[in-house]
Amino acid sequence: VREADWRRAVELVQDAGQVALVCHVAPDGDALGSMLGLGLALRRAGKRVTASFGDRRFAVPRLLRFLPGQDLLVAPARYPAEPELMISFDVPTVDRLGLLAPNAGKARELIVVDHHPSNTGFGSVCLVDAAAASTSVLVEELLDRLGLPVDRDIATCLYTGLVTDTGSFRHASTTPAVHEMAARLVATGLRTDEIARELWDRSPFAYLKVLGAALDRVTLDERAAGGLGMVWTFVPRADRAAHRLPYDECEGIIDVIRRIDEPDVAVVLKEDDEGAWQVSTRSKGGVDVGRACTAMGGGGHVRAAGFTSHDPPEETIARFAALLAPST
Ligand code: 5GP
Ligand code: MN
Ligand code: MN
Repeated sequence: VREADWRRAVELVQDAGQVALVCHVAPDGDALGSMLGLGLALRRAGKRVTASFGDRRFAVPRLLRFLPGQDLLVAPARYPAEPELMISFDVPTVDRLGLLAPNAGKARELIVVDHHPSNTGFGSVCLVDAAAASTSVLVEELLDRLGLPVDRDIATCLYTGLVTDTGSFRHASTTPAVHEMAARLVATGLRTDEIARELWDRSPFAYLKVLGAALDRVTLDERAAGGLGMVWTFVPRADRAAHRLPYDECEGIIDVIRRIDEPDVAVVLKEDDEGAWQVSTRSKGGVDVGRACTAMGGGGHVRAAGFTSHDPPEETIARFAALLAPST
């Protein structure tokens, strides 16, 4: 991040009376945590704050409902049409703003806070660092530069971004600086055990049934990705309907599939309530799945990426597999 961009961002925030925050559609812990964390701090500093994300079905995923600051959220229809100052979180491309993309287009100033290597450089101020482990890392620095304190609620939000995007401090992005930030946040009195339980250790019974069906149809293709291999499965909405399992309860299935030793790549295709397939992909580093997902119209990181498909799973997986080549 250029020093001039940090300074401009601080200036814009300090001068603004009203700030409109936005994160990417189908928000994850980093998107929502980063947005609500900054939102809480700005409200405490006396700003009028609105926050949203541009999903047609506007609902906070069940596993993120413990996050503080949700009273900042408004539905996309009630979002300022032409915000004076807008700030986006964890959004690499304009299309990930969903229904709120037109609002961003009309914002007088747009500060982009993000850590995706695929970030296109949209917005008037770019706080983008592909080396940052999470967007919430950049939010912590922005708060520091604004001179705003991080209390326990704000820390809960920022920690959720950090712990989800580092895969509980397991991914290669987990540097000493990441642990130092975690230590600062935990020192505010966080219950890291409760956050971990909310994020990863809660599911309705129906989850096991749907997981079982997904495991039943799992495929290991050891010749995919130039011999690096790929494991994949899919979750049709009929499975979920049979057990009355909401879509967002299936988030964790990719973490079961990707444990497998043989392949470098893991893929789970989940059919959402509209009948579109949301595709989650992971790699162990031998393949750049972010590049393949970008070619499929989505995006993401080298080891975690995704896209949306409207074709049957077998067709989608064949096209995706054809894009996989060992990274050099
Ligand atoms: P997940 O598989 O957990 O939904 O997503 C993993 C990562 O892939 C996310 O952090 C995000 O960067 C990226 N990603 C997932 N779905 C999409 C998508 O439809 N479009 C883009 N641009 N990125 C996605
Ligand atoms: Mn994200
Ligand atoms: Mn992120």
